[in-house]
Amino acid sequence: MKPTFPQIILKPGKEQSMKRFHPWVFSGAIKLVNGKVDEGDIVTVYSAQNEFLGIGHYQIGSISVRIFSFQNIEPNEAFWKEKLLKAYNLRKALGLVNNDETNVFRLVHAEGDELPGLIIDIYNQTAVMQIHTVGMYLIRELLAKLLKEIMGDRLVAVYDKSSKSVPFKANINAVDSYLIGNTGSTVVCENGMLFKVDWEEGQKTGFFIDQRENRYLLQKYAAGRDVLNMFCYTGGFSFFAMKGGARLVHSVDSSAKAIDLTRENVELNFPSDPRHEAFASDAFEYLKDIKDKYDLIILDPPAFAKHRGAINQALQAYKRINAKAFEQIRPGGILFTFSCSQVVDRERFREAVFSAAAISGRSVRILHQLTQPADHPIGIYHPEGEYLKGLVLYVE
Ligand code: SAH
Repeated sequence: MKPTFPQIILKPGKEQSMKRFHPWVFSGAIKLVNGKVDEGDIVTVYSAQNEFLGIGHYQIGSISVRIFSFQNIEPNEAFWKEKLLKAYNLRKALGLVNNDETNVFRLVHAEGDELPGLIIDIYNQTAVMQIHTVGMYLIRELLAKLLKEIMGDRLVAVYDKSSKSVPFKANINAVDSYLIGNTGSTVVCENGMLFKVDWEEGQKTGFFIDQRENRYLLQKYAAGRDVLNMFCYTGGFSFFAMKGGARLVHSVDSSAKAIDLTRENVELNFPSDPRHEAFASDAFEYLKDIKDKYDLIILDPPAFAKHRGAINQALQAYKRINAKAFEQIRPGGILFTFSCSQVVDRERFREAVFSAAAISGRSVRILHQLTQPADHPIGIYHPEGEYLKGLVLYVE
């Protein structure tokens, strides 16, 4: 018999966004809850007219339910397996499975794969999970098992890295650990370049996969240029610049560990290449004095706004760092500038960069408008999933 779940009944009129397949139910939309619910429980959602709208995981906070199906399905093993299989088949269609040049990709991108709260990244034969909801956390072992069934020999380990991403107020004392196998850090390949990835120690799942296509594009612009890779983390933009024939590359990050990683990765790809130097420094300090030193600058800062309340401050910070680049880049220079703050939308980021350009008074043209790659898909009903924005600018 199909299990029954607690029911969430919405206030009149609040069903509209779910009818348009938006996967979040905000706490303010809820009229009442039939039954006892705890964080992480599966719940069904109904309109005030008692119409079924969807099924999802309950969470305490402003988003109360994250919907994983708009159909009245039974969330059993077969259901989850089908979801993971769909995500895997999409990556196959993108040419990311069995690819000799690239063996690192995102397999599950939360709402973008209709699996809210779940991120899975593949590093060669290891999957690293980063879970953002208690509901997904509770089924992590099942998800790992199903993933192994789907990927077979292509997968030897699954590492759960959710201790910092699950809601800390839920008090579930998550500890990062291997759910299957045990591989340790590894060297992966992105478009033919090598990266050492340490998912146990590194930021997020160990590596910023989302910049793959943008790093590749950078390569085309690097020939003969003096490059500054600001916020370099593991150094990816640096060695794609080197591959593209840069004259010199300076990598900067405030984290000494990131600088070590960058040096290690550059060494893997370009042993003893004198073109590269790395510096541990604060961006705002470093950018004070770079007048006419560079003709290709990458600005890829961490998310300056992690929530809506921080948007204005973040926009000021984007404006400040970009103004520094516009003021000092050599004539004919190229700027790759990014924002990964989900709450700062494309328009507002552009405005911040535009006002930074205006301060410098220089002529600036947009060459490319960049975003996240296709293995970080955006649900068409969930525009919030578009988080990475970038502009490539030509500065006269
Ligand atoms: N471009 C990288 C990802 C950047 S992540 C890639 O392609 O993989 C953001 C980086 O900014 C982190 O490594 C973090 O250590 C660094 N960072 C954060 N605040 C900083 C600051 N004030 N100055 C310099 N670096 C900073």
